[in-house]
Amino acid sequence: MPDKKHVKYVLTEDQLPRAWYNIVPDLPVPPAPVLHPATRQPVGPDDLAPLFPMALILQEVSTERYIEIPEPVRDIYRQWRPSPLFRARRLEKALDTPARIYYKYEGASPVGSHKPNTAIAQAFYNRQEGIRKIATETGAGQWGSSLAMAGAMFGIEVEVFMVKVSYHQKPYRRSLMETFGAKVHASPTNLTDAGRKILAEDPDSPGSLGIAISEAVEVAAKNPDTKYSLGSVLNHVLLHQTVVGEEALLQMALADDYPDIVIGCAGGGSNMAGLLFPFIREHLTNGRRARFLAVEPMACPSMTKGVYAYDFGDTVQMTPLVKMYTLGHGFVPAGIHAGGLRYHGMAPLVSLLHEQGIIEAVAYHQNPVFEAAVTFTRAEGITPAPESAHAVRAAIDQALEAKAEGKERVILFNLSGHGFFDMASYQAYLNGELEDYEYPIEEVQRAQASLPQIPVVTIG
Ligand SMILES: *Cc1c(COP(=O)(O)O)cnc(C)c1O
Repeated sequence: MPDKKHVKYVLTEDQLPRAWYNIVPDLPVPPAPVLHPATRQPVGPDDLAPLFPMALILQEVSTERYIEIPEPVRDIYRQWRPSPLFRARRLEKALDTPARIYYKYEGASPVGSHKPNTAIAQAFYNRQEGIRKIATETGAGQWGSSLAMAGAMFGIEVEVFMVKVSYHQKPYRRSLMETFGAKVHASPTNLTDAGRKILAEDPDSPGSLGIAISEAVEVAAKNPDTKYSLGSVLNHVLLHQTVVGEEALLQMALADDYPDIVIGCAGGGSNMAGLLFPFIREHLTNGRRARFLAVEPMACPSMTKGVYAYDFGDTVQMTPLVKMYTLGHGFVPAGIHAGGLRYHGMAPLVSLLHEQGIIEAVAYHQNPVFEAAVTFTRAEGITPAPESAHAVRAAIDQALEAKAEGKERVILFNLSGHGFFDMASYQAYLNGELEDYEYPIEEVQRAQASLPQIPVVTIG
C-alpha cells in the first residue's frame, strides 16, 4: 500500500532513462507501411532524406526495442528531467473519492510542455548531420517555442509557420519564439505555393495544422540546407517522449502503487504515447494489466469519429501517406482553445493500438474540460494547458466513477503542460463565452469521401 502523506515522487539525475522505448517490436500486429504520395508504393529511407536527417529516418523505421539517448541530449534533459510525479491528494479530497490520482508533470520544462523532449533530440540529430535550418509548423505555439529553444541551444535557424488563428489568439507564444531567435509567419502565407493556393481559394482562411505542415514541408523540400521537423504523430517523436513513461514507471514503484488506468490527452498522440507506451509494454509483455485512455476534443475527434485509413499528413498532399485515424486531410477545425489538439489525424502507432482495442478513446466538449481544469487549479495550484485539461477531465470522471461504485481505483495521467500562455482561454471560460462545437457527422462523411483510394497493400 502507498504511504499516507507523500505528494511528490522524485528521481535523481542518475535515474534519467538511458534509452527511449520503441514499441514496434511489442505490437500485436506489424505497422502498415508508409506510402509515397505519388507512386503509392512503400517509401524507403532515401525518399524521406530531403525532409529529415538520416538518424531520425532510421529511428522512424527501427524495430529495435531500445534506442540509446545520446549524452548531449541527456545533458539538456537534466535541466528539467526527471520530471516530478505528483499524487493529487488535495484533488482527491475535493472530489471525496476513494481513487488515488497521480499525475506526471511535464509543465516543468523551460517552455512549459512535454514537447522539448523531442525538440532537443531532433535538433541534436540535425546538427550532427550539418543542417543549418529547420522549418516547422505550430498550432498553439507550444511546438514552435520548443523547437525554437532547441534551435537556440544547438545553433540552428528555426522558421515557424504558425496557424493564423493561433498567431492572433496567442501573441505571447510568438514573442517567445522570436525571443529564442526563430522566424515566425502566420500561415497560410504568400511565401509558399501551398500557402498561395489556399489563400487563392479562401483569402480569410484561419489556417490549420494541415496547411502549415504543407508550407513547412515545401520550404524544406526546396532548400538543400533546410530540413523539416514535426512535433507529434511520427514514430520517432513518440519514441523520444517515452522518457516520460519510463520515469513514471520508476516513480509509481517509489509510490508503491500501480495504475489501473493511464490517461493522456491526444492531439497527434505524442504526450499520451510517451506516458502510455512503457505501461503498454508492461501490459503486453509482463502481465501488469491496466487500461489505457486517450482523450480528445469533440471538435476534433479523430479516433472517436474518424476513419482508420491511409491519408496525407498535410492539406496539400505533399507528405507520405500513413495509415491512421483521420478526419480527412482537408479538415479545418473550429477555433477551440485547445489549439494543440486540432490535428486531423492521429499517430499511426496510437491508431493501431486503438484499432486493436488496447487504447480506448473518449471525447469531451471544451466547457466541461475547462470546468475540470478550474477544479484542478484550485486543488493542486497548477493551471493546466487547455490540451492537458482534457486528461484532467477524464481523470476526474474516473475518480467520480470510482466514488459512485465505492471502489478504489488508481489513476495516472499526463499533465502535459501548464496554461500560463492560455489565460485568455480561461478568461473566456470564466466569462461564460466558450462555445461547445461538435464535429458534424456530415463532415465525417465528407472527409471519408476525400480520402485517397489505396489498393490493398500486401506485405512480404
Ligand atoms: C502540443 C500539445 C499537446 C498535443 O500534442 P500531442 O502530440 O498529442 O501530445 C498536448 N498537450 C500540450 C501541453 C501540448 O503542448
